[in-house]
Amino acid sequence: MELESARELAESKFGIKGKASSLAGERNPNFLIESDSGQFVLKIHDASELSQLEIQQLALTSLESLASFQTPNFVPAKSNQLLVDAGNGKFARMLAWIPGELWSASETAESHKIALGRLIATVDHELASVDVTKYRSVLDRPFGWNALQVQSLVDDVELIKNAELKKHVKLILDRMINSTLSKVIALPHQLIHNDANDNNVVVHDGSVVGLIDFGDLIYAPRICGLAVGCAYQLDARDPVASIYAIVRGYHEVSALSPAELEVLFDLICLRVATSVVMAHRQLAADPDNEYLGVSQDFFQALLPALTSVSDRLSHYRLRNACGYEAHPDSRHVRQWLATTDAKISDVVMPPFANAKKIWLDWSSENKNIARSWEAIEAEMHAAGADVAIGHYCEDRNVYESDFFVDEGKESRTVHLAVDLFAPAGTPVYAALDGKVFLFHDNTDHLDNGPMIVLEHETDQGVKFHTLYAHLSRASLDGLSVGKEIKSGQQIATMGTEEVNVGWPPHTHFQLIMDLCDMAHDIWGVAAISELPVWRSMCPNPNLILRIPEGTDVHAHMKTETLAQEREVVLSRALSLNFQKHLEIVSGKGAYLYDRDGGKYLDLVNNVAHLGHSHPRVVAAAHKQMLTLNTNTRYWNQNAIEYARALASTFPDPLSVVFFVNSGSEANDLALRLARTHTKANGMMVLEHAYHGHITSIIDISPYKFNGPGGQGCPDHVRVAPIPDAYKGIHRGEGSGDKYAADFASTLKTLGQPLCAFISESIVSSGGQVPLAPGFLKQAFAATRAAGGLCISDEVQIGMGRMGKSFWGFELHDVVPDIVSIGKPLGSGHPLAAVVTTPEIANSFITGMEYFNTFGGNPVSAAIGQTVLDVIVDEALQRNALTVGNYLMAGVHELGKSIETIGDVRGSGLFIGVEFVTDRESQSPGTKVTKDLIEFARENGVFLSSDGPADNVLKIKPPMIIGTKEVDIFLDVLERGLKSI
Ligand code: PMP
Repeated sequence: MELESARELAESKFGIKGKASSLAGERNPNFLIESDSGQFVLKIHDASELSQLEIQQLALTSLESLASFQTPNFVPAKSNQLLVDAGNGKFARMLAWIPGELWSASETAESHKIALGRLIATVDHELASVDVTKYRSVLDRPFGWNALQVQSLVDDVELIKNAELKKHVKLILDRMINSTLSKVIALPHQLIHNDANDNNVVVHDGSVVGLIDFGDLIYAPRICGLAVGCAYQLDARDPVASIYAIVRGYHEVSALSPAELEVLFDLICLRVATSVVMAHRQLAADPDNEYLGVSQDFFQALLPALTSVSDRLSHYRLRNACGYEAHPDSRHVRQWLATTDAKISDVVMPPFANAKKIWLDWSSENKNIARSWEAIEAEMHAAGADVAIGHYCEDRNVYESDFFVDEGKESRTVHLAVDLFAPAGTPVYAALDGKVFLFHDNTDHLDNGPMIVLEHETDQGVKFHTLYAHLSRASLDGLSVGKEIKSGQQIATMGTEEVNVGWPPHTHFQLIMDLCDMAHDIWGVAAISELPVWRSMCPNPNLILRIPEGTDVHAHMKTETLAQEREVVLSRALSLNFQKHLEIVSGKGAYLYDRDGGKYLDLVNNVAHLGHSHPRVVAAAHKQMLTLNTNTRYWNQNAIEYARALASTFPDPLSVVFFVNSGSEANDLALRLARTHTKANGMMVLEHAYHGHITSIIDISPYKFNGPGGQGCPDHVRVAPIPDAYKGIHRGEGSGDKYAADFASTLKTLGQPLCAFISESIVSSGGQVPLAPGFLKQAFAATRAAGGLCISDEVQIGMGRMGKSFWGFELHDVVPDIVSIGKPLGSGHPLAAVVTTPEIANSFITGMEYFNTFGGNPVSAAIGQTVLDVIVDEALQRNALTVGNYLMAGVHELGKSIETIGDVRGSGLFIGVEFVTDRESQSPGTKVTKDLIEFARENGVFLSSDGPADNVLKIKPPMIIGTKEVDIFLDVLERGLKSI
């Protein structure tokens, strides 16, 4: 169709007057219509496509309500029809244009790949519920791009003249037809888009926004569609790693099953092969069609990369990328080795348990590596050792030869075996019954030298291998593949340095789940970024060697690997600090250090009460761990003496202590105590309060139940307004009384007996809001008048942090009935407590035993006591007062010239700085707070924010900071606020 006819058609049938231009398309003419009312796509179809178009309409209608991504919306014709007669047996429809550019024309970032996976999964999820029963014959039409019809491509492979290319394509088709296809067919089927290639994905402002062209819809397992999306993003250097992000993105939205992951790589290869065959098929029919040639160079270059990697290893790597253990049978083999009655023999020096051992540190951190046999022998001799042991999962810098580097790839440096160093000629024995799988003399410099691989089988028929490398050449004499070997049978002797291509005499002993087509080039070391995969592929050989001192040194993974692992093996509901996430590796005093040596002043961590890694806390923990740790069912001075010491920091009658392990647990126990004592259930809480993460406590935490994902306020709970004298509903002097009146009237609406009122004395999650003066006393009185108990949550603010007082409630001249304490109690060790009156503690004696496995164990108690001691010895409460006042005065001073500082408040070292856009309106300065936190991080200071508008800096540093640290903070604050 000519441009002019397209323009006329758009105007006459659809009422869209504009300019027409051609768009690329594989099968049908497509036109871009640009009019004053926007941009549209006019698509022209043959009558033969009508039922296909009906399915497209169903699919697109089901996707109309997608919030996260866009798909084309229909623009009805003037006649209100979606499809109109365009004359000459053709039909036309109009779709809204999705603004942006095609993926193929934009730069690809890793974040795009994750979004692409999410996009395909989101579309699949919607399409899964489209009922296409009556369209099955159309969907299953003969169609070369349908992976399920792979058989139909076979004849056309002959169209490929390039013999090398033909070989790769054949290999992929054969593998699919002979082994993978039946597994694909067995998966559940649904309607899928089947063409998320880079010309069908729309990117806008650096984000993936939509998917277009629904002309290839088929009825197939959804994994076929993901494979298509992956096929167009492959990088020949490491095709599998290049699609991790896409697969993860999909898995995030809609979990991929192990059965789907098993066929994914082969389906990706199939798509690449299909593209090559289809191009040859179509070019044969239409040699001048340029569009058909698109992407062929790319795919032809990829084929050798795809067929040269093991499809099984690729499968394991993709499993790992989704958080499944890489090798699906590794767990079974490890369990079998841990429990089998089969004879497991010593590999060297039986009985190995009696051999005197030393460990060689070949890690990259060790600058004095004993590398020559003379040096190792000298170390062994000095220690009187029979054998020296080289570690498993050690990141080594001894693999200097080219052998460990593949062009353009990361070097392999992490050891997957255990090395047993002993003089050349030392006998080597088979660990288990098995048979010879392969043997070979690997003569490259620093390769394996003469080696033997045995194959073994578990009681359930799962096969795995043991590898013995660096043997003497004579060890290979008389071997044959398949030869039966008995556990404990001598199979070899250790080779000399000459035979072993540069290595000192030792046996490299490795467990291997699958040799993955490695032939005799079996990897004994892996790239550190693939360590989780290889840990599963090559489990710790100590399952066999059973060296009690251990062999695994857990090489330090790259930060990127940790980030990827965290996404899949920890819940994504766990958040990370800062826009630029950090790997923090150590802490000392008020400072934290990242992996690259970056030093940060920590003004956020009120858990490390005495500073990070306080030597007296570390020593107390170490000493008690070396002596005893048990549960609390024995007399033990630590817990008893510590309980007395802790109780003596409280006013009468608070004197009975229950030890627990976290603030949440403390609040849960506080609730149980209150319920048992009052036999009531009703609760009063403050707006924006947070008291912990467990079910019972989420119910009394408006910060959570009214926040994102929250389920709203439970029936037994009433929320009183936060007594914020700065910007709450009542302000300034006298507001405490008004808030107390609000509290009393809210309490009246409870409609059931009151159990307790719980609050902090400075509401931290509300944005470090000190309770308006006078409020707490009156609220306690109202609570008690209604028969309820008063619970003070001191988890954040207690233990001297207030400066003027040891506990927060003391600032308000009240005595609670129950106090919960957490974070600072163990200065970094999980320790928490509930302190109450003898009367309430008595009510808890109901016959039901209170048992808490870890609460108040001897180690925790030793630590807790040390923390109390250090607070006294280092005069930390006084420090909190003077340094806190110095800090607040400094911010006040800055506030004279910086308008965005709205309020500075708090007590001791628990301070809030509230930012506003201007002081008049008090509108929250959310952006300035966020930018300041990032600025401070870049400048070596950790800050964080809270409050409903996230516009309050919460400053609650370790209690040891001095004025020097405050000056660092004030300097960053000033520079930050002046520059952002
Ligand atoms: N109460 C308050 C006031 C808290 O801030 C927190 C934790 N932020 C908790 C209780 C819960 O403590 P944990 O996280 O140790 O369970």
